[in-house]
Amino acid sequence: MSVGFDHLQSGTDESVWAASALDQLPPLELPEPSDRVLLLVAHPDDETLGAGGLVAAAADRGVAVHVVVATDGDASHPNSPTHTPAQLAAIRREELRAAVAALDPRARTTFLGLPDGQLSAHLGSLTSWLTAHLDDYTLLVTPWAHDAHPDHEACARAGAAALAAGPHRVRHWQFPIWAWHWGTPDDLPWPRLRRLDLDPATRARKDAALACHVSQHSALSAAPGDEAILPPSIVAHFRRGFETFVVLPDNPTSDAGYFDDLYAAADDPWSLADSFYERRKRAILLAALPRERFGRAFEPGCATGLLTAALAERCDHVVAWDVAAAAVRQTADRMAGSPHVTVEQRSLAEDWPEGSLDLVVLSEVGYYVDDLVALAGRVRASLADGGVVVACHWRHPAPDHAHPAELVHDALGTALHRLVAHEEADFRLDVWSTSPESVARAAGILG
Ligand SMILES: [Zn+2]
Repeated sequence: MSVGFDHLQSGTDESVWAASALDQLPPLELPEPSDRVLLLVAHPDDETLGAGGLVAAAADRGVAVHVVVATDGDASHPNSPTHTPAQLAAIRREELRAAVAALDPRARTTFLGLPDGQLSAHLGSLTSWLTAHLDDYTLLVTPWAHDAHPDHEACARAGAAALAAGPHRVRHWQFPIWAWHWGTPDDLPWPRLRRLDLDPATRARKDAALACHVSQHSALSAAPGDEAILPPSIVAHFRRGFETFVVLPDNPTSDAGYFDDLYAAADDPWSLADSFYERRKRAILLAALPRERFGRAFEPGCATGLLTAALAERCDHVVAWDVAAAAVRQTADRMAGSPHVTVEQRSLAEDWPEGSLDLVVLSEVGYYVDDLVALAGRVRASLADGGVVVACHWRHPAPDHAHPAELVHDALGTALHRLVAHEEADFRLDVWSTSPESVARAAGILG
């Protein structure tokens, strides 16, 4: 529950879900005993509603589980005449401890005490906390990124942002809660869904945990403002004999919306504008370009458009693409006064611009492309005579990179002449051309 969120409006009846294809989902593979699970939830009760069966079943296999609760859930009854937010916070912490004990008596619990209903405004703190702790875990479980509740979505986005900042070898599963109430079967990401069947003993522990959250499934008092947050019609979604999880792929960037989520968590997810590292790297890339002027340039993965703006000063035409709508908006805004720059929302993995190119700039994008050989082939086929390719990639491991920088550069350099090789601990930058002519020779200095 959060401010501005009205649970009293009618939602989707459980009979709709019972008639959906949920019963045909492939089974969830339970964590291995060696796994360490971090269950990050927004409010006390999320852990039981969405993942209580998982916690109990994992505990039975000896998996270590740590339940981290971002808020105390003290905004669940903003109009209560009988309970202050502080009283509710104390009650809900106790309810959570009792519920977790019913599911897994050995589980750790941690309360972060962030403001209920305002997690999206505290994404930075949540992401920093996760970044500092993720190395201790192998599996992160959060509410679903599209759960129709801003606090729940914030947990998922903080998780995605922390994982993207890497290097963490952590899988990420998500679970719907309010989507069962507000959503319809059409809203679910079916190919990513897995089902965890609960045996009778596990189900009983989940029911016992659910019973602990008295402040949510029962009225605080008979007074208006003290109504139950979870009436039986909603609780029915959580009394199923199974739980449902969204299992994100190992290469999360292949998931539509991955980059949109990063931009939702931060306007400039990689601090391209502010960080000295990024400014210096941009300057090195621009200095490495072997000619003063270029005709037509292509820059996929243009992000916030900072490099685009610099390229626009040296090119007759720049085609800038990004898969994330927020990135395209920022770049289009930045280049609004430059009609020779074309900004489009398109994916490098599926598409390539028509016509010949004098310059291709691949900055921090190659590792997201599954088929590097096909990418390199498209680059070569599109280059005009004397066409130039510049590639620049982070060398440290990152969980959302399908390939390391070295592989990306080896593929791109095939059958081209290398004019510049710049290598440092953090990134690799290469410039290739269809022509072997050096910069000095091209400038007439060597005669
Ligand atoms: Zn919640």
